[in-house]
Amino acid sequence: PAYEGLPESVMVTGGCGFLGRHIVEALAASGVSFIVVFDLAPRDVSHVAWIADLNKATPGTKVEFVAGDLKDPESVRAALKGVKAVVHCASPHPQLASDAVLEAVIVDGTRELLTVCADEGVKSFVLTSSASVVFSGTDQPGADETVPIPSTFRDFYSVCKAQAEKIVCAAGSSPSARVLTAAVRPHGIFGPRDTQAVPGICEVSSTWRGKLVLGDGNNMVDFTYVGNVVHGHILALQRLHAEATSGKPGGKDGSRISGKAFFVTNDEPLPF
Ligand code: NAD
Repeated sequence: PAYEGLPESVMVTGGCGFLGRHIVEALAASGVSFIVVFDLAPRDVSHVAWIADLNKATPGTKVEFVAGDLKDPESVRAALKGVKAVVHCASPHPQLASDAVLEAVIVDGTRELLTVCADEGVKSFVLTSSASVVFSGTDQPGADETVPIPSTFRDFYSVCKAQAEKIVCAAGSSPSARVLTAAVRPHGIFGPRDTQAVPGICEVSSTWRGKLVLGDGNNMVDFTYVGNVVHGHILALQRLHAEATSGKPGGKDGSRISGKAFFVTNDEPLPF
């Protein structure tokens, strides 16, 4: 769908990635005037044709690619010129990146990005977090946002995502926050152009690893359709923008959005 009430300029970090591209497309379809796609200089050039097609299809929107690295605050600062809102979607690959890179990009990079955003007059900031920030290894049927962030995690990626979320939500929870923030927590994203979830399951099912049964075979897990994840991000952006421009709480129930984290799901978990 096209959304109303969005900021006129938005930077999407990791904007060339699977989720990032879907978010950029939703912003362009909603008539956001200026979109900066911030990402590492890609190894291939598929983003060039994608952005050209997007600019052609949405003439009221200017989509611009800026190559940069979250580890380099000056590249972030240059990309943020003229931008009023950020969707921070970038992350190294959870399994392929080293712990040092995960920490440098997810934790330090997010902290630095927020600082630069405040300096450059960005008003709204949505973080792509992860449902793994509340998972310490035990079953969580029906878990909601009242579940606290645990002190131990199953992997270092989740440690970093939880730290980044804490930094982002703490920054936005102060009544005098310069940048209003929210975090969206998807799990197992699938949909068009997915390179991880479904291809990963197919790869596992075609090897001996697919023959393992964990537990009694009735485990449930929450996979989330990419369109729902985009919807969650855009609603968060829309509500934060309302909060930033009106000075009043942006939640439909009259509550303040800034500083909060939200799960996004498909409604019911799926058998796994
Ligand atoms: P992706 O790998 O397709 O996209 C991530 C993008 O971030 C890539 O384009 C990559 O180049 C970019 N990036 C990595 N390091 C960077 C850096 N130092 N500077 C700038 N850009 C950098 O991954 P995705 O599946 O689209 O994931 C997007 C977000 O969603 C991530 O924050 C991830 O943690 C989160 N998430 C994903 C899933 C999932 O199932 N895919 C589940 C929960 C949360």
